[in-house]
Amino acid sequence: MIAKNMENLVENNSTIREMFEEGKRLASIYGKDNIYDFSLGNPSVKVPNEFNETIKEMVDSKDIDIIHGYMSNSGFEDVRKSIANSINNRFNMDFDENNIIMTSGAAGGLNIVLKTILNPDDEVLVLVPYFMEYRNYIKNYNGKFVEVNCKENFEPNLEDLKSKITDKTKAIIINNPNNPSGVVYLEDTLKEIINIIEEAQNTIYIISDEPYREIVYDGNIVQYIPKLYKNTFVVYSYSKSLSIPGERIGYVAFSKEIEDYERTYSSLTIANRILGFVNANSLLQKVIGKCADLTADLEEYTKNRDLLFNGLTSLGFNAFKPQGAFYLFLKSPVLDEKEFVKKAKEYNILMVPGSSFAYPGYVRLAFCVDSKMIEKSLNEFKKLADFYNLL
Ligand code: PLP
Repeated sequence: MIAKNMENLVENNSTIREMFEEGKRLASIYGKDNIYDFSLGNPSVKVPNEFNETIKEMVDSKDIDIIHGYMSNSGFEDVRKSIANSINNRFNMDFDENNIIMTSGAAGGLNIVLKTILNPDDEVLVLVPYFMEYRNYIKNYNGKFVEVNCKENFEPNLEDLKSKITDKTKAIIINNPNNPSGVVYLEDTLKEIINIIEEAQNTIYIISDEPYREIVYDGNIVQYIPKLYKNTFVVYSYSKSLSIPGERIGYVAFSKEIEDYERTYSSLTIANRILGFVNANSLLQKVIGKCADLTADLEEYTKNRDLLFNGLTSLGFNAFKPQGAFYLFLKSPVLDEKEFVKKAKEYNILMVPGSSFAYPGYVRLAFCVDSKMIEKSLNEFKKLADFYNLL
């Protein structure tokens, strides 16, 4: 018999995953080329050759036996140093290996941070709309999840933020650029958030979840929050920037000015071990150490964004123009967006209802797909637009 607190999770197994399975099912009936699957954030651009070549070099190197072994649970020191140098060059920081803990992706990073800071019933603020796994991660440590509403432009409603702070508030998660809205938060907004949380009696941490940091459009700038606020954990991942989500590699970075630095560092390291990751994958760590500044050719996402945004808006759909990440948040032409998702499926278009991100009335389209598929999908979207009389 499974545990009670897993029963709900099993019942409500992720809609996104279900969509993915549905995509596979439809593809087996209609053929892969006739399915327009915008459901999953699986990167579509090629992994850079340099990354694959570095894996080969590592495997052939004389250090391979060391690489295959256990290491400190915070990760290899030389790798952490290389990442710290990259951060210093890019963001003008003064980090070294003791500012970095290697993790099993951003998911691993978020979990070790929450394990480190949460006491039962501590509250974590999350900006709507959000990546639904946050709920489960917070629940893993018996924390309480508190939603902060956003404005029409997906910037946070700061009055609502103020009203949600209590003496139990422990952290705020800021996902920048945001999945699913595609917003990149303005520097002024971040400063206002910081002003608000600094007024609280208790320390409120910022957890800056940044797997999409490198994917930005139109010159938008993703601020480096530790420059603005010392009690910040940056949770970073190479899943999207290098197109390697299956490799499970990322890190947590934080300043030595963070409250209770020494014990925080130890706690994150121990959490890596006792949550069962033990440490981030050793071969991948070594490869990242050599490729800290490498990204895949992310320009393809700009092309896809323009194709999809311009195509859909010219058909009469209403959408937020993504500033970053690879998701388009589209307003449903009918109040119940699940009905819209169902209708779209009749045209073999798969997308995720906004209620999966606590934002009903919208749908999310992941445009990390082949550009040709987007072009072809617009013929089907045209039929959908005609059905709803959009023009
Ligand atoms: N945070 C957000 C907002 C995401 O969208 C994702 C994955 O899609 C993650 C965290 C987890 O990323 P990772 O694959 O690095 O664990």
